[in-house]
Amino acid sequence: MTIRIPLAGVIGSPIGHSKSPQIHKHWLKTMGLPGDYVPMEVELSDLRQVLETLPKAGFVGVNVTIPHKEAVLEIADLITDRATLIGAANTLIFRKDGKIHADNTDGYGFIENLKAGAPHWTPAAGPAAVLGAGGAARAVVASLADAGVPEIFLTNRTRVRAEKLAEDFGMRITVVDWVQAGNILEDSNLVVNTTSLGMIGKQEMRVPLDGLRAGTTVTDLVYAPLRTHLLAEAEAAGCVTVDGLGMLLHQAVPAFERWFGKRPEVDSATRAAALR
Ligand code: NAP
Repeated sequence: MTIRIPLAGVIGSPIGHSKSPQIHKHWLKTMGLPGDYVPMEVELSDLRQVLETLPKAGFVGVNVTIPHKEAVLEIADLITDRATLIGAANTLIFRKDGKIHADNTDGYGFIENLKAGAPHWTPAAGPAAVLGAGGAARAVVASLADAGVPEIFLTNRTRVRAEKLAEDFGMRITVVDWVQAGNILEDSNLVVNTTSLGMIGKQEMRVPLDGLRAGTTVTDLVYAPLRTHLLAEAEAAGCVTVDGLGMLLHQAVPAFERWFGKRPEVDSATRAAALR
């Protein structure tokens, strides 16, 4: 009888930038578990065939990143309610019965990162301002609604995308024009950047930030660089700031546990492994 070492990985295109291999390999090693985690560059035209083949080669699941997060929902056999609501999956589990199970753990990672980095933030204490309405924003809004945030001010360069998100979620979401983005900061208990603005190689965030108040919790999903312009300005204004790397680390926890059978810890060594 051959004993198969469980394999997992991340599929996307491009994939070279992914920090997920460092994170999962660090946990496998420090927890002394058999297994491996590999990055795989996969084109959209090959997606279905790759997902049908990987379980036969000993894979127990994969993470999914840009541009396949939406397309995998067409292929999965079972989809969690939250992945359906978000319209995207970041985690696939290849079940023993041959079925592919799709989930989205980005919202979980987002909330756990906030709990760890801003323990005094209370969801019910006031509204949240969310900048952006892409795939990540949908996961963030779903998790904020679950956590009990009473109201969300949502702004996006492309307004119709924000309106569609508000319509899909059906909670108290007020859509605000992108040119008015600076005006929603003052009345918010939490400010979240879910756009790619401020990321290395992308445009800088130009939203006026003088409305940020001391004590407000401010977080950025962008983690390259770790200290974005938004976080630097927020810190200068006396806000509590939380960087985006922790979200990436925490979203990996439920996937690792399902694939390899033990729940890992997010600690300073995990952060260091991701930054290596
Ligand atoms: P996406 O679906 O492509 O959405 C991109 C968002 O950025 C949209 O709201 C888009 O607005 C906005 N945007 C892009 N360029 C802009 C510009 N020049 N001016 C104003 N807005 C602009 O991408 P995503 O999957 O949501 O990811 C968004 C960011 O979150 C990325 O930087 C990603 O790396 C990060 N992220 C981090 C984590 C983590 O674990 N920390 C997890 C997921 C994502 P339009 O709708 O107008 O195009």
